[in-house]
Amino acid sequence: MIINTQDYTKQTVFPLPIELPIKQAIDMKVMDLTLIDCSVDAHLTVREVAKIFEVHQEWPGVILKSDLLFLGMLSRNRCFEVLGKPYGLEVYSRKSILEFYDAMKHKFVVIDGHTSIQDAVKTALTREKNIIFDPVVVQVNEDCFCLVNIHDLLLAQCDVLENLYEEVHQLSIIDPLTQLNNRRGFFECAQPEVIQSQNNQNDLSALMIDIDNFKKVNDQNGHFVGDQVLCAVADEIQKTLRQTDLIGRYGGEEFIGLLPSTSIEAAQTIAERLLKAVENRIIKVNETEVSVTTSIGICHIADANGSLDLLLSQADQAMYWAKATGKNRVSRWTPEVSNSTAMDVIKHGLKIKSIQKNNTKKTEQITKIYDETIEGWSKAIEMRDKEMEGHSKRVVELTLELARKCGVNERDMDDIRRGALLHDIGKIAIPDPILFKPGKLNEEEWQIMRKHPVYALEFLSPISFLKKSIDIPFCHHEHWDGSGYPRGLKGEEIPLAARIFTLIDVWDALCSDRCYRSAWPINEVQEYIISQSGKMFDPRITNIFIQMIEEKLIIEPNNNARIIEHSTQLSPLL
Ligand code: GH3
Ligand code: MG
Ligand code: MG
Repeated sequence: MIINTQDYTKQTVFPLPIELPIKQAIDMKVMDLTLIDCSVDAHLTVREVAKIFEVHQEWPGVILKSDLLFLGMLSRNRCFEVLGKPYGLEVYSRKSILEFYDAMKHKFVVIDGHTSIQDAVKTALTREKNIIFDPVVVQVNEDCFCLVNIHDLLLAQCDVLENLYEEVHQLSIIDPLTQLNNRRGFFECAQPEVIQSQNNQNDLSALMIDIDNFKKVNDQNGHFVGDQVLCAVADEIQKTLRQTDLIGRYGGEEFIGLLPSTSIEAAQTIAERLLKAVENRIIKVNETEVSVTTSIGICHIADANGSLDLLLSQADQAMYWAKATGKNRVSRWTPEVSNSTAMDVIKHGLKIKSIQKNNTKKTEQITKIYDETIEGWSKAIEMRDKEMEGHSKRVVELTLELARKCGVNERDMDDIRRGALLHDIGKIAIPDPILFKPGKLNEEEWQIMRKHPVYALEFLSPISFLKKSIDIPFCHHEHWDGSGYPRGLKGEEIPLAARIFTLIDVWDALCSDRCYRSAWPINEVQEYIISQSGKMFDPRITNIFIQMIEEKLIIEPNNNARIIEHSTQLSPLL
């Protein structure tokens, strides 16, 4: 009758690895288990089985077999439970175990020995018609069964369950994409921060951050790229905010920051920094490069009467205000923001857009007027000095061309153009006898002549519109080797625009007739330019210019240039 041959000892080792199969747990003797060590003919009655239990006090249960077929298991407790019940006594004690088992089998569950402890617990706890399977029968091998006490199983699982709970809890508060707190996680930590700030009368500010036009990012690049953009923005937020700040993913493309001990002014500075950081970040996903902007609303706890909900909803209102007023900006909550309806915000947004449009139009008009004035001044200089006719226009074009080849940004071109047009504006302060002297200037005259860049500075610097154009008029006589004037700047101390212009100015001067000499032949001008590389001119710019000449991108300005005798002394040119 006894079919079990192995002797298992009871052991309790916690915690059990949850994925450990029960059979292995038995083999390793790490599991607190009770073996069924006999099998009983299923045709016996319950009362007869109870007698067997009385004889074998140590048996926790019996295996029920009929014609060598495993039927199930009857535990000692259940057997006596049945017998002990007034109604059960009559019914079951007279019935065969087979009938009893049929009636009761739904109360047992047989699991495979390879089932993990975790799954065994799940199976044992499975409720079916409000019945908890008890106990669990484990089929260790073909005809060896053992009984695992559900309480033992649960005990073994306690630690594991605790870990499991922690794991599940983490999953419920962390956003799996960005690894930031999700909304629930954020609120769990935010509430204590608010209470602490109220108790200690500390500052507390909130940032509501929403990615601008994010739908378009998804539409144009797909959701995978969109997800990477979300991660990149989350990363910038983490980098910009402090360790002590609380960050969360509030919704789809909305993030939130809670900044303890932070005034609204400090929050504004942090938000502006974050705005720039996100704007400047190029997010690369495989071959795709994306950049996005954000709109940020900020609010201080004092404006929210100490309420977290109000703080967040006001930060949200401020964020919508930032959206409505142009996006890629920070907005601070004010009662005006709060009182405005959604329609107001939209209207305000449209109004701002129209003001911006009008402003752009006005700026364009003013720029046009300024440019016309500057052209007029340039003409006036040329009218005074007939020889210079056409010089300004030519040098402007060539300077811009060379600047482009040197990699100067297109947005700086307008300033360079204005500077080139006005390069000799300082000469209006040079007396005629010196400016138009046919021969060489004496030292005293030279001293006056060399002042024209300084006159240009004095004349132009009060004009704010021309602030960025001053480099050429002021520095176009500085030389790479430091031998120029008025300041004797050297190398890259000389602004790039001026270094470019100096070369073009000399090129155009040598290629044109002057009252004191005729134009040089182009090959000689080219040789001269090369000879001045590293002396008068920046060597890198010289190389680029010579390449332009060789590629015939530049032609001599004076097509009638004659081969003439010339002096190698350069001073009269300038
Ligand atoms: P606005 O500048 O006004 O904020 O415009 P928007 O396009 O950013 O805002 P809208 O609310 O119209 O669209 C938000 C989009 O964010 C729509 C939704 O598909 C997308 N989104 C939300 N959650 C996720 C996410 O987890 N991954 C990706 N890729 N997209 C998401
Ligand atoms: Mg949004
Ligand atoms: Mg958005």
